[in-house]
Order: sequence, then C-alpha cells, then structure tokens
Amino acid sequence: MVNSISVLALFAHPDDAEFLCSGTLAHLAAGGARVHIATMSAGDCGSTTLPASKIAGIRQREAREAASLIGARYHCLKGKDLLIFYDRVHLNKVMELVRQVCPSIVFTHSPSDYMVDHETVSRLAQTACFGAMAPNYKTGIRRPAPALSDVPHLYYADAFGRRDILGNKIASGLYVDISKTLERKEQMLACHKSQQAWLKAQQEIPETLTTMREMAQEVGKCIGFRWAEGFRQHLGQGFPSNSLLKRVLGKLAR
Ligand SMILES: [Zn+2]
Repeated sequence: MVNSISVLALFAHPDDAEFLCSGTLAHLAAGGARVHIATMSAGDCGSTTLPASKIAGIRQREAREAASLIGARYHCLKGKDLLIFYDRVHLNKVMELVRQVCPSIVFTHSPSDYMVDHETVSRLAQTACFGAMAPNYKTGIRRPAPALSDVPHLYYADAFGRRDILGNKIASGLYVDISKTLERKEQMLACHKSQQAWLKAQQEIPETLTTMREMAQEVGKCIGFRWAEGFRQHLGQGFPSNSLLKRVLGKLAR
C-alpha cells in the first residue's frame, strides 16, 4: 500500500526535514512512496559571511542533493528567512503545492517550536491540508492544480529539542524506529555542509550530527527503540483520525 501514496514533508528551512523526519521518509521511500521535501525559504539568513542570494543558492543545492539520496523531489517555495508570515501569499504557495503533490501524508513542524518561522509553517500546512479540498479557494496561480478529494493525514514532527519556548517537554504521540535508516538520515543531514559552522556560531549547537543522534536516542528511549523519530497526529475536526503512518510502517511505528 505504501507504494501507492505520495508523501509531502513541508518545513521552514533547508535541513529541517532532514533533522526531524528523514529517517521516516527513508522508510517510506524504500517502500515505494513518492516523497516530496519542501522548504518555505531557501535559507537566505543561514550565513554570517555570504550574501543572501549566494547562501540561498548553496542551500537549495544542498537540499536537492539530500532529497536525491532517497529519490525524493525537492521544492523551494522561495519565502525569506524570518519573514514567513501567515498571509495570503504564503498560503497560496503552500496550498498549490499540496494540491500538486496530492499527498496522503503530510509532515510539518510542531505547532509549538523554538522559532516563529517553524510555527508559522505548521499553521500554513494545517490550513492548506484542510482547505485543499475547497474548490472555491483559488490560489491565483495560472494553471492551478485541482482541489483534493481527501484531507491528508497530517503529522507534526517533534519540536527541536522536544521542548516549547518555555522549556516544557512536549511528548511525542507516535514513534518511528529509524535504526535501519539512521545512516541514511546522517548522510542526508551531512549534505547541508554550509550549516555546520553557522549553527555552531549562532546557536551554540556543537555538531549537527551529534545533536541529531542525541535527539534520536532520547526519542527512542521513550518507546524502547534504539533510534527513533517522534510525531503527533493532527486530529482536529475534518482531519482523518486513523493513523495511516502506523498502518504503512507496521512494526516500525508504535
Ligand atoms: Zn528551521
């Protein structure tokens, strides 16, 4: 069944999807799902030395390379770092992408996370999943994709560090065993070479791969997997309430 579905991972910046859910995406891709990774921005503020246009180009290439490691397609919605707003312009872009990809499963940021870009993308994804079925919502794009016939299953990846901005722990609701895809996840994250120095300087994150491994280990411990990624499913009115992710991953998800 997994080989008949499309999956969309929509995140704010290049490397977010790799950090938060690429182990799960690798499982789905290996099962034959058509995987799409999209970022709202090209990561134009991710450097202290390079101009915005230059670093944005580098980071799109890094994201494309990472996606290609699992045969996924990369889309950049060309927003700007720190200027991702919940408005018509951004919603039209996300809505059009959701309709084009026609996903059964959408992954996005936690509604509560360490930065507003992430939280805004989470809200945009929520509205796009809900509204993609409404034909009267026009994106204003020439040759628009048709409205969807079903609302996708929406999953929020864990917040970075699994905490909200007040330091409170956010527990995952569904855990995916990534022991067999951890190496692929590391390779995908390693494609984002431009970010190693930046994260170290700006956020005092010692080494992205180390941080990622620590988080995967912590999530795994909660459920008895060695390495895991955590998610919460959007279960609000109008959204599907069965866990499609659990169904397609079988024993890999708990
Ligand atoms: Zn980010």
